[in-house]
Parts: sequence; C-alpha cells; structure tokens
Amino acid sequence: MAWFKRKEPPFEKKVKIPEGLWVKCENCKEIIYRKELEKNFKICPKCKYHFRISAKERITLITDPGSFNELDPELTSPDPLGFKDTMPYKDRLKENEKKSGIKEAAIYGDAKINGIDVVIAVLDFFFMGGSMGTVVGEKVTKATERAIQRRVPLIIVSSSGGARMQEGMFSLMQMVKTSQAIGRLKEEGLLYISVLADPTFGGVTASFAMLGDIIIAEPRSLIGFAGPRVIQETIKQQLPEGFQRAEFLLEHGMVDIVVERKELKNTIAKIIDILMPLPKDNV
Ligand SMILES: [Zn+2]
Repeated sequence: MAWFKRKEPPFEKKVKIPEGLWVKCENCKEIIYRKELEKNFKICPKCKYHFRISAKERITLITDPGSFNELDPELTSPDPLGFKDTMPYKDRLKENEKKSGIKEAAIYGDAKINGIDVVIAVLDFFFMGGSMGTVVGEKVTKATERAIQRRVPLIIVSSSGGARMQEGMFSLMQMVKTSQAIGRLKEEGLLYISVLADPTFGGVTASFAMLGDIIIAEPRSLIGFAGPRVIQETIKQQLPEGFQRAEFLLEHGMVDIVVERKELKNTIAKIIDILMPLPKDNV
C-alpha cells in the first residue's frame, strides 16, 4: 500500500460546443443553424443564397433515391507531367480525395429523374476547384457516350474553375474531346441539359457547359470564361452591375432559365418530357 495517495483530479466541467453548428451566409452575413440550412437544400433562408454543394449532394438532390449507379469511380489521373508546385500533384490529388471523399472532380453514372432514365455527370468544386484534367474530361466523354448508347438524355452539372493547370496541355485537350462527344450526341438527336452552378469558369464554360440544348443556371451563380478582374484590366472599362451573374446571362441570352435549387429536379424532368419524351416508371 502506498504511503501517499494522489488526489483524484477534480471533475472538469467543460462545455463543448460542437464545431460547425452554425454557418455564416456569405451573401447576407446572417448566422444560420447548419441543420436548418441542410434541410433547406443549402439555401440561405434569409436571402436565398445558394451555398455550394458537393457532387454527391447534387446527385441526391436531382435524382430519384437509390437510382444512381456510379460508373468508373476508380479513375485517377496518371499525372502526365510529373507536376510539382508547392507540393507534388500526386500528393495534392490524395489530399483532395481525403477532403472530398471522391477520387476526382467529377462523378457520373446512370440514374432516374422522376422515373425517367438519364445519364448524369456532376463536377465537384470541393475537389481541386472542380478543375478539368484528363479524368474529368474522360468521365464527361464517357457519360456522353453512355447516353448515346442507352439513348437517354444527358445531364451535366458544372461547377468549376476551369482547366486543371497541373495537367497543362492535356487539360486543354479535354475541351476538344468533350465538345466532340457532345457533338456526336446531338447528331444522334439526343437531349443534353447543362446545369451551371456557382462558379463555372474557364475551359469548362468554353466547352461542354455551354453546349447544352437547354442551359439552366442556379440563382446568382457566377458564370464566365475569365474572371471579372482580368476582363476589367484588359478592356480598361468598368463592368456593368451584376456582370457574369446567372440573371445577367439570362437577360443577355447566354442562359435559358434560372432555376432555384428546390425546383431543379422537377424542371429537368419537365424539359425532358417536352423535348425527349421517354417511357417512364410509374412513380
Ligand atoms: Zn443569406
């Protein structure tokens, strides 16, 4: 038996505040309860700002529950340039995979929307800014070819900073590759609906994102090729109010409809029903 007994440390009363319980709206700066935000499709209940969502959340939002069958989830970049900036590109890919839970900045597969068969591809801004390298280009192309093969509509949701600089010229080549695939889909008389989420820029805008038979944008999304600062410095002119916002693009004929996230699924289904009626399941 010990001569001295150590006193038990007094019970520490710590109040733990779970991290990330509240979110600040980037637009109106209002503090929102995260659960409330999630219930509301990640739209600010005060100002209707559409928060960015991941590719998987997008799939849940647009497709019928349990209908999405992902294809080629294992595709990863071969790092064709052996690129290194502040860290090797391979490490950066791994880091992004850990952060986002997906292996590349796009996912695609078969799905149903209100009982209608479709092929859907979604870009994920949380994976290296949704940038298009060889894998994103390949997945968009494969999704398009699959839509041709199955003779069903193609839906692509974009949110991307543009081409992936770590893959240099190979990224730029994806613009041609994806555009040609979409061209083949159109020759077959099939429908392609492009949905633009915040933000859609660069090589993605300059290729498949703007080639939709119908182009839908989410409210207030920023859509363009180069950023406003670059344009302003180049043309040495003040840009108009709301430049590159979805509503501005709608007014100038670059976008067909601006649709709130809550209405996205039904709007897509309605467009398919009008432009490419297909036999559907009873829902
Ligand atoms: Zn807000």
